[in-house]
Amino acid sequence: MKNYVYSFGGGKADGDGTMKDVLGGKGSGLAEMSRAGVPVPPGFTISTEVCNIYFQNGNHVPPEINQQVKDALTKLEGQIGKKLGDASNPLLVSVRSGAKVSMPGMMNTILNLGLNNKTVEGLAERTGNPRFAYDSYRRFIQMFGEVALDINMEKFDHIFDARKAKAKVKLDTDLSAADLKAIIGDYLTLVEKETKKAFPQDPQEQLAMARDAVFRSWWTPKAAYYRKMEKIPDEIGTAASVQAMVFGNLGDTSATGVGFTRDPGTGEKVFYGEFLINAQGEDVVSGIRTPQPIHELEQVMPAAYAQLRTITDSLEHHYRDMQDFEFTIEDTKLYMLQTRNGKRTGAAAVRVAVDMVHEKLISKQEAVLRVQPQQLDQLLHPLFDAASLKKLTLIANGIAASPGAAVGRAAFTAEDAIELSAHGPVILVRKETTPDDIHGMDVAKGILTAVGGKSSHAAVVARGMGRPCIVGAGAIEIQERERQLTVQAGGKQLVVKQGEWISIDGTSANVFLGKADTTEPDPNSSYFGELMKWADEFRGGFGVRANADIPRDAKAARRFGAEGIGLCRTEHMFFAEDRIPHMQAMILARDEKTRRKALLKLLPMQRRDFAGLFTAMDGYPVVIRTLDPPLHEFLPKREDLMVDLARLPHAGTPMKKEMSAKYNIPVGQLKKALPELLKRVEELHEFNPMLGHRGCRLGITYPEITEMQSRAIFEAAVQVANKGIKVIPEVMIPLVGSAKELEDQKAIVERVAKEVLEKAGKKSLRYMIGTMIEIPRAALTADEIAQHAEFFSFGTNDLTQTAMGLSRDDYTKFSKEYETLKIFKADPFASIDQEGVGKLIKIAIQLGRSVKPNLEIGICGEHGGDPSSVEFCYRAGMNYVSCSPYRVPIARLAAAQAAISGDRSESMRTA
Ligand code: PEP
Ligand code: MG
Repeated sequence: MKNYVYSFGGGKADGDGTMKDVLGGKGSGLAEMSRAGVPVPPGFTISTEVCNIYFQNGNHVPPEINQQVKDALTKLEGQIGKKLGDASNPLLVSVRSGAKVSMPGMMNTILNLGLNNKTVEGLAERTGNPRFAYDSYRRFIQMFGEVALDINMEKFDHIFDARKAKAKVKLDTDLSAADLKAIIGDYLTLVEKETKKAFPQDPQEQLAMARDAVFRSWWTPKAAYYRKMEKIPDEIGTAASVQAMVFGNLGDTSATGVGFTRDPGTGEKVFYGEFLINAQGEDVVSGIRTPQPIHELEQVMPAAYAQLRTITDSLEHHYRDMQDFEFTIEDTKLYMLQTRNGKRTGAAAVRVAVDMVHEKLISKQEAVLRVQPQQLDQLLHPLFDAASLKKLTLIANGIAASPGAAVGRAAFTAEDAIELSAHGPVILVRKETTPDDIHGMDVAKGILTAVGGKSSHAAVVARGMGRPCIVGAGAIEIQERERQLTVQAGGKQLVVKQGEWISIDGTSANVFLGKADTTEPDPNSSYFGELMKWADEFRGGFGVRANADIPRDAKAARRFGAEGIGLCRTEHMFFAEDRIPHMQAMILARDEKTRRKALLKLLPMQRRDFAGLFTAMDGYPVVIRTLDPPLHEFLPKREDLMVDLARLPHAGTPMKKEMSAKYNIPVGQLKKALPELLKRVEELHEFNPMLGHRGCRLGITYPEITEMQSRAIFEAAVQVANKGIKVIPEVMIPLVGSAKELEDQKAIVERVAKEVLEKAGKKSLRYMIGTMIEIPRAALTADEIAQHAEFFSFGTNDLTQTAMGLSRDDYTKFSKEYETLKIFKADPFASIDQEGVGKLIKIAIQLGRSVKPNLEIGICGEHGGDPSSVEFCYRAGMNYVSCSPYRVPIARLAAAQAAISGDRSESMRTA
């Protein structure tokens, strides 16, 4: 029969460190430590497979496996010379959970198993320490009661505290043996009352129940939540390790502690941890007593400390990674209870990886693979000081859209944000943002919206700016007119008014009322820089570009290592205060001549923007996309206009002035102009703007827009090239669905380019014209489209929306259910849906390159900065990914990891 139970101890083990899948991290660590001769109390591990069998079998472990457990127990008893349940010399064991991946504190543990009304007396006699024996028993009943019998912990605490009050003592350790005995009596009565059965006295029964309870703890809500958060599969299950107890609470020559071989917060190579004299494991973590720093152990128990240092050093060498360990000293003798690769912050991950290369423990390649790309986020954005957060009220949680911590006064409109920002930091709080809010977003330290998802306007723009942002915080209700939000928090209705301080954490998506302290990380630390240098070596020719619309973002992108701009959304430039009137004039124009007049005003501004981008990119390619959003986005809201029109006849001068400023119309012309404006807004109204008059459809119906933008691009290129700076413009046509659309727009761009370049004597200036692939028809006819395109860039925001028939702005209304029910593995707007949307991408690449083998292919949707999507893009054979500037290092690292893992598509050719 198959083996389900693996013994360890005494310098030997059935399993080893490679068997994490079967034994869990803890079990495989114990096996490996035993083999290496580290002093480990002996025991056995029940495999993760048994956990799955337990659930499949209606919460029962089959008899054959039970027999294997019994055999392993007999072996353990032989090894240690004690028997479970022996009244005179009882063996006591711990039963601990341990999955393949560490899930710290998420599952259950039971200590001191084997104690009952008889063995407790035997233990008291053997150790000559009745207080210790009774304390161990009461701890066992309490832990077993809570974990295996589902009794509320508070009921035990209540009994315990009542006894302390009665005995008039402050500290647990001041309770006498008699007090503890009385507590045991009360605990046993409590168990009987709660379960209608006596506390199990048979240690074999205790063991089976404890093991099953450990398995069940796999599905506690916190464990399930943690797995979801850390993307740990539900199917892997937990192992249960049964191990002989050693006691850190036998008196002042005993102790217990936990530690790390390096500082898990900073990565610094210092021995890090804490311990307690005369205590059991849970005392260290429970906060009942304040532990001592680990270096103080050197004074109290020098021999054990020296041995601990030697063992943990050798464990770190053995595993070639920072270790997180637990130990117990029983009457001066040291035992190791656990070792595993320690969890660490992003900063520590980077530093440990780099230091270990210098210490010749790992290779550069391993170092690059060691750091999770997402962890770099923490290094690139301000962080909250954890202690200061504790003093604030958590008022809501939303969707983490752009990481980092931001503190400021709440402002409920873009205008108010600008005004308030003159006096200090602000957080822009909106139901959702629109392009109109861009100037308010620009001055805000952070952005919070009540609706919207990961690719909503607020999310995309905030990420681009590197501004912390939370979207879809559904619990808050925004009353814009009243300039306030209301929210239920802590059972109370809270009102947060404009100007009040709030703190938002774009990483955890938590919103706090009040002012938290922040710390600035250093993105260019030597460790970070060194790791990224190695990553770039492994990444080879696979490029990382940035989505950037203005020179400031382009400069940030360069600082973070971007090798070009993969997407400049030109429309963002038109929302500036000095441009919107011209843009509106262009839209309101009834004929081409008037439209051209307005466009002529925009031309020099747009030229200046592009010149700035070319200069900042200094020889790297810049992909500039022609106008994409529906035109109504540049006009006032229909509802606002209707309200103001109704108010106009009764309006006094101040109100008229306000309207004049709002609509950019002189006071005297309001009466005539407002109804016209409303009429045009109504004409432009669309039932489904995302699928309406946008993308290349604008340039096709208003060719003069494409013409103006092309002129601005090439005139800027000439201007910058004349300064001796190399420019590589790549003009990109959005939302193409048929080759004819591209052909139409390409002809305009080519004509203008020729005219401008010939006039400037710059005929040799190289440029490219390409298209976005963001609707399914484009992907499916990519061979036809490629005949007119020199490059493709996948707009996976729209491609996901159109391929899945899923609105990018409305998905969050049901996203939680879809992800909980696992209908979607992850948010498809954050991580490419590889089976569906990914298939379209692969088809498009294959078709495109069948026509043009050297076709340059990239991605510029939000997915370009998501590590698993970057890996997909690499494998699919793209040439580069493009993402917001602050995600560039993440993409560089993810790309390097993909390259190290190999597996590049056949269709990859260097462009
Ligand atoms: C896209 O659709 O993926 C894209 C980059 O364009 P936008 O987000 O501007 O629609
Ligand atoms: Mg798009």
